[in-house]
Amino acid sequence: MQFIDLAAQQSHIRDRIDRRIRAVLDHGDYIMGREVAELEEALAAHCDTAHCISCANGTDALMLVLMALGVGPGDAVFVPAFTFAATAEVVPLVGATPVFVDIDPTFFTMAPTSLERAIEHARRLGLRPSAVIPVDLFGLPADYDRLSVIAKANDLSLIADSAQGWGATYHGEKTGGFGTATTTSFFPAKPLGCYGDGGAVFTDDPELATHLRSLRAHGKGQDKYDSIRIGMNSRLDTLQAAVLLEKLAIYPSELTVRHQIASRYTATLKDYFTTPTVPAECSSIWAQYTLRARDKAARDATVAKLRAEKIPAAIYYPHPLHQQAGYADFPRDPSGLPHAENAASSVFSLPMHPYLSNSDQDRVIETLTSIYQ
Ligand SMILES: *Cc1c(COP(=O)(O)O)cnc(C)c1O
Repeated sequence: MQFIDLAAQQSHIRDRIDRRIRAVLDHGDYIMGREVAELEEALAAHCDTAHCISCANGTDALMLVLMALGVGPGDAVFVPAFTFAATAEVVPLVGATPVFVDIDPTFFTMAPTSLERAIEHARRLGLRPSAVIPVDLFGLPADYDRLSVIAKANDLSLIADSAQGWGATYHGEKTGGFGTATTTSFFPAKPLGCYGDGGAVFTDDPELATHLRSLRAHGKGQDKYDSIRIGMNSRLDTLQAAVLLEKLAIYPSELTVRHQIASRYTATLKDYFTTPTVPAECSSIWAQYTLRARDKAARDATVAKLRAEKIPAAIYYPHPLHQQAGYADFPRDPSGLPHAENAASSVFSLPMHPYLSNSDQDRVIETLTSIYQ
């Protein structure tokens, strides 16, 4: 049993991927070939956003947006303490200060009340509140209604990190169009992944889109030898775009299966663990199916039991960012980050991918319920 079975997916679409790769080898436009433009158009249409700017990875996607918005020294950027490091990492890279915000204990996404406290705290420290990066953690959209009210009231740009949530819905709309810009990642293990690194930014703002296209290609102006600003080299490879075109074609049906598996897990496990809650206004894309155990001892024992049965279980994330060496000195919500700390010590994630057989699902469920028999 695999935690994420990329080989099963590949065997399902191998012919189509081979054909796409062959087409790139035939035309030879490895950098910004026609597949890149075709993919950007398809991705933008999929999430009903005006512009998609592909780039080298999901971290660069965040970095490019911060650069385009002119975020820099003296600016505070608010990030959840319970996320992958990349969300926070880009902030010091542009010279700004990440300020850690707690999460909601039920949904694991950024807690609006904690964001308000963190903004006040940043001001007291003499920082200029400038942007907030909510994360669509485990596939579930962040609380955009409440977060965008706070962002607006404080003149913050809202950058949605949807590396785990791209295509999930919030009030019926897919992630991609919320806030100033949305970013995603095509790292192989993400719900929509390529065969290497890749990422993208989505925005409805045409000027921001033009700025981002320039930044990803060394700050180019009219052509590549016209350097109008400092940029970087962050393009999506044509070969990766070719792979993604075929993966995008099956993405909606894959999400349906992920949803069915999640529903089955929840129906059978809800009496034993705290199962994920999806608010009425949202749908999740189930990047992870994450359970919460009673405490750390129960979590660790459960994960050990699963692994002893050769069932791959993962812990996302074992340590909140503010407790890690690289991030320990940055400011945080002065009331503390108890829910981020608690989540790190009690969560674990089950195998989740569209090719997980019924019998493998049965084995996961039986192993987990047997602990309590
Ligand atoms: C994976 C991930 C990223 C970074 O994406 P890369 O393509 O690996 O750079 C950023 N934020 C979150 C929440 C992620 O899960």
